[in-house]
Amino acid sequence: MSKSKDFLRTIVENDIQSSKYKEITTRFPPEPNGFPHIGHAKSIVLNFGIAKDYDGHCNLRMDDTNPTKEDTKYVDALKDAVEWLGFDYGKEVYFTSDYFDKIHNYAIQLIKMGKAYVDSVDEEEMRELRGTVTTSGQRSKFASRTIEENLELFEKMKNGEFKDGEHVLRASIDMGASNMKMRDPLLYRIRHAFHFRTQDKWCIYPMYDFAHCLSDYIEGVSHSICTLEFENNRDIYNWVLNTLELKAPRPYQYEFARLGINYTVMSKRKLLELVENKVVDGWDDPRLPTIAGYKRRGYTKESILNFCEQIGVAKANSIVDVSQLEFCIRDDLNKKVPRVLCVLEPLKVTIENYEGIENIDSPYYPHDVPKDGTREIPFSNEIYIDKNDFNENPPKGYFRLTPTQPVRLRHGYIITCTDIIKNDSGEIIELKAKYHSDSKSGSDTSGIKVKSAIQWVSASTAKEVEVRVYDRLFKDEAPEGLEDINKTSLKVIKNALIEPAVISQKPDERFQFEREGYFYCDPIDYTDAKPVFNKIVGLKDSWSKKTNESKPKEQSLEKANKVQVKGDVEPMTGVQNKLFTKYTEELKLNSEVANIIARDEYLSLFYAESLLVLNSPVGLANIIANDVARVIKENQSTKLKFTATQIAELIKMIDKEIISSKIAKQVFDSMVKDGANPSQIVEDKGLVQISDPSKIEPIIDEIIAKNQDNVEKFKSGNTKLLGFFVGQVLKQTGGKANPKVVNELVAKKLK
Ligand code: ATP
Ligand code: MG
Repeated sequence: MSKSKDFLRTIVENDIQSSKYKEITTRFPPEPNGFPHIGHAKSIVLNFGIAKDYDGHCNLRMDDTNPTKEDTKYVDALKDAVEWLGFDYGKEVYFTSDYFDKIHNYAIQLIKMGKAYVDSVDEEEMRELRGTVTTSGQRSKFASRTIEENLELFEKMKNGEFKDGEHVLRASIDMGASNMKMRDPLLYRIRHAFHFRTQDKWCIYPMYDFAHCLSDYIEGVSHSICTLEFENNRDIYNWVLNTLELKAPRPYQYEFARLGINYTVMSKRKLLELVENKVVDGWDDPRLPTIAGYKRRGYTKESILNFCEQIGVAKANSIVDVSQLEFCIRDDLNKKVPRVLCVLEPLKVTIENYEGIENIDSPYYPHDVPKDGTREIPFSNEIYIDKNDFNENPPKGYFRLTPTQPVRLRHGYIITCTDIIKNDSGEIIELKAKYHSDSKSGSDTSGIKVKSAIQWVSASTAKEVEVRVYDRLFKDEAPEGLEDINKTSLKVIKNALIEPAVISQKPDERFQFEREGYFYCDPIDYTDAKPVFNKIVGLKDSWSKKTNESKPKEQSLEKANKVQVKGDVEPMTGVQNKLFTKYTEELKLNSEVANIIARDEYLSLFYAESLLVLNSPVGLANIIANDVARVIKENQSTKLKFTATQIAELIKMIDKEIISSKIAKQVFDSMVKDGANPSQIVEDKGLVQISDPSKIEPIIDEIIAKNQDNVEKFKSGNTKLLGFFVGQVLKQTGGKANPKVVNELVAKKLK
């Protein structure tokens, strides 16, 4: 496997060349508050991978500073994930809680330097005093406490003399800093809670920003790699280490893009919600993107490693298509696993011109796979084929068995249907057929033309097995939560029939069931008495077609951009760099959007032009980086029917709340097609946003009247249903109702 060098490896190599560190040390620092997911796999592969590539070491460190959410079972799952992926974290696992004494001493040191103080304002006041992006903040009156007072109060905090939230320890940095995070960040808070390791020893806990950099330093980490959302925390990281004057070599923080996958939720909080609400069957449910889930489903570690390799490491967030992961597992198994016959929905076929039993010697692997192995498939006059492989009234292009079209039994003979037997309700329960004795696979002299070969099993020797067919857990491409669940994500087939060799010979744990997909012996529920197989993945990507049909181009203006970034990131040119800095610092674009526009000459010109018309830098940048960029990509051309001025006009209508952003999507789609003016489109189609409460209220009343059961549930505490009601109103108005107004009105009415 050749590794392309990413920007982090470039940094590491430079540091090696300049002898900045004796040894490269990285760390993987999860909080043990949930099972690790595929995003963590990306981070594991990156951190352990770098350590491996440069003869260094990677620490597995539990970031356990939040006592109420953490648990040993999560620690075990994290260890297991790292090991399963094939990495070695050495003799021990590290815990931030092991450094609580040291971190506490550093805090005292900061207080003595006059660089930290105990603050005692309540949360709300603290928020107000922090100021805003455009206005500077103010120190609270408690910031002027003397060092002695601070030391005494901090000691009392530690001794448990105060309640949660009564005081906090803050760094004394700069309340006017343009990076809001630097406005006297919290270092310690009071939490009277039982910690799974330190138990009741502490009732103050260090905040991430304080604990993380110090833990890195204590462990001798050289490169502290985290995800992009910590970009602004880097200043605190450096401030703490610099202010404490910690000796070199010290660690530095670098950020990379988080992995997101469509049709998938990827935060431990959301995954916990699925587990706790029993939407899935535990953290290792094969439908979850957890490492434990993939493992149980039958994914191989090679497929996960390959996937992480393919997506690469970049500095711009992106959403990766889940089919890319599915491709990786398919690609891995295709050349590895035996191919066998299993019938998921059995339909009996009696072969009237056959007697006795014969064993057909058949290879497990196709010719192009360098693996050997055969088994005997018994053939007799009673077999089962899949219900779907017979069609009495076949549509055009149907290649399998029909009343007039013969079909080949895989590895066996060609059969022709002679009779169809139905039950009283007209359902087909059996077929009669004849076989062609001179058509045996490999020595066929019959001259009969068939268009396909189907799987089958012999009735007397087939084994009954349970097959769990998994599909994507979410039907929505960018799922929010429970309301986007795909209700048919699990189908349990109790009475599938499999050829006997799979059970008696056990040639593998993973199989290709021919024409169905790849399957895995469930590691927990499989027994000889009741074999259970999990579907790992289908043979083809069945979703790309399905979704294209049901959701024509449904990429919304609000949704994250779907640009895929692979492999290395090219360095920016000087001009691009300047633009990027201007975008992020002056125009406050997020780095992802800034990255896309800055790197593209056409988009940056388009953006500049639109800004001349409308001063709405963020709104304009978002539509240009996402939607305009997508149209250019789809058309493979920058010849657009709409202009920058028209895009500005569209965003202006959103800003002025004339249309909702949902409607804006519709308008944009028509602009793409015919280049009409957005205001004209809005007028012609009557898309003006409805904000007048007197127009919205009657609709809400009607929906409330129709959904009394949900009203009850809402009133008894299920506040999530607010979203349901709002959604219904938006639906009724074709997306035209002003969501803000609807939200307020619904909340009021349900009180
Ligand atoms: P979640 O939001 O899922 O709880 P987290 O970032 O809070 O994730 P941690 O347990 O704190 O999870 O993360 C451990 C490490 O894994 C961190 O270094 C984090 O940057 C990395 N990580 C977490 N999620 C992803 C992801 N989606 N892609 C890449 N790295 C990730
Ligand atoms: Mg977290």
